Amino acid sequence: VKAVQIHGPRDVRVADVDDPRPESETDAVVRVTSAGICGSDLHLYHGRIDIEPGFVIGHEFTGVVEEVGASVGRVQPGDRVVGAFQTACGTCWFCRRRWYHNCTSMRLFGFGMAAGNLSGAQAERVLVPNADLALLSIPDELKEAQALFVGDILTTAHQAVRNAAFRPGDTIVVIGCGPVGLLAQRCVLLQGAGVVYALDRDAARLRIAAEHGAIPLNIDEQSADDAILEATDYRGADAVIECVGAEAALNAAIQLVRRNGVVSVAGVYTDDISPFPYGDLWMKDVRLVGGLCNVLAFWEEAMALVTYGRLDPSFIVSHELPLAEAPNAYRLFDRREALKVVLHP
Ligand SMILES: [Zn+2]
Ligand SMILES: [Zn+2]
Repeated sequence: VKAVQIHGPRDVRVADVDDPRPESETDAVVRVTSAGICGSDLHLYHGRIDIEPGFVIGHEFTGVVEEVGASVGRVQPGDRVVGAFQTACGTCWFCRRRWYHNCTSMRLFGFGMAAGNLSGAQAERVLVPNADLALLSIPDELKEAQALFVGDILTTAHQAVRNAAFRPGDTIVVIGCGPVGLLAQRCVLLQGAGVVYALDRDAARLRIAAEHGAIPLNIDEQSADDAILEATDYRGADAVIECVGAEAALNAAIQLVRRNGVVSVAGVYTDDISPFPYGDLWMKDVRLVGGLCNVLAFWEEAMALVTYGRLDPSFIVSHELPLAEAPNAYRLFDRREALKVVLHP
């Protein structure tokens, strides 16, 4: 089958790999119909995360179940499904508490040997271990593009917003208008915020944020500090949701939040930050929450929001390309010429 491999920084290739077959009775094989390129794939693309050359990448996918092991019960061949970016054992101490993202034998699709040696989903077919946990059926009324992000970025945004634990009417800041940031802004409004400010320096992305109800703030043109202070009687935002994954963004979040507020981090951090402004955090009594999304615990909530028509995440898709064009798709996404690329095998 054709699959997208990473061979080094900025070197992705489409090649033939072995056709996956179920290896245990809890596995399924899915014929992939859509595979997203995620912001976290860029960490691999830039060489910030080590991965074996030739590893098949991709962890955001929808498809049709082709084969299942004998004990798979929740999905059957022919079902339309969305995959989670990870799979988990379902039985360890952490899984029993529904902290699937902390599973002691957690495996991420497409992140190399260190992340559980699980081949990625930017491929014609993908092996899904523990399929009853890691696949979710797509309701008939939904299009694929509406369900695709439930397996990763929509649930990441939804959980980060949940973690911000704000009150109805609150003033919220979302740093970043990439796919996760734009979805987080929608979720913030759905969860009853009074107003959401969207920060970025990309005019086109800020326009999309504004179209979906956020107040855009271009940080190259105006001081976010001043704007948020003025909007909140000089208190600061009730919560800030950081959707970039960079030191400057986290520092800005700690600046913008009010005393006793929450900074919720959806961004992915692969490096340490030093010096970290712990003094500011302490003086303001800020709660800082973040970490890998617990997608398997929260994706049914995200799917329900989409199914009931509360939000349609497909607006973030800017490019749909054949799988064979993956090298070009990565270039477009890396240069921010594409907001979100979906590959079709
Ligand atoms: Zn991802
Ligand atoms: Zn587990």
